[in-house]
Amino acid sequence: MGVKETVKALSVIGLGEVYITRKVKSYPDKRQALRALFDSYKDCTKCDLHKSRRQVVFGDGNPDSPVVFVGEAPGEEEDIQGKPFVGRAGRYLNEQLKRIGMPRETVYITNVNKCRPPGNRKPNYIEMQACLPYLRKELSIINPKVICCLGATAAEGILGKKIQITKMRGQLFPYPYNPSIKVFLTFHPAFILRNMNAEDEFIEDLTKLKEIVKGGL
Ligand code: SF4
Repeated sequence: MGVKETVKALSVIGLGEVYITRKVKSYPDKRQALRALFDSYKDCTKCDLHKSRRQVVFGDGNPDSPVVFVGEAPGEEEDIQGKPFVGRAGRYLNEQLKRIGMPRETVYITNVNKCRPPGNRKPNYIEMQACLPYLRKELSIINPKVICCLGATAAEGILGKKIQITKMRGQLFPYPYNPSIKVFLTFHPAFILRNMNAEDEFIEDLTKLKEIVKGGL
């Protein structure tokens, strides 16, 4: 029985969530592997977002970090500078990371979609599906201990299911493409800037994430 048939058969008997463990390849030179990955899609036209972008925005930071932060897509400032999380939300995230003792330069940050959606709208399903293979490859090169999804859109891209971030934040889930990697969910920093009453929960989540990364939880 092939993989597709096995997954279908398991679904029929109620084992709806099936995790496929692929052989994990290790990359002795992560920076070189990431550069090669970026070169492979810096001129990508796989989805309509290429029509309005200034440039493709690749991930940034320490590829040896045990935690990778994943957002939704670049905004205007990111599109101009070619780096993720450099706008107002990014600066706020940097402040909070510094506050919990996990400075930005020590971690790796990226997005599900690598091109800015017009008007900063949410990327649609087709655009996300077109771009996700790049993120999966990026994550397989870095092979972090934890992927921290910033907001429901990033979490839906990573976990492949509908997410209620207010109910599921602060929790760990297995990464479907490598269950030894854990996926942690919290709010998007742009949401906190619009809803400062959720700031305490955001800091609580980041503090918990730091404990998980250190191996304390
Ligand atoms: S968003 Fe991703 S899939 Fe779409 S054009 Fe940009 S790099 Fe390609």
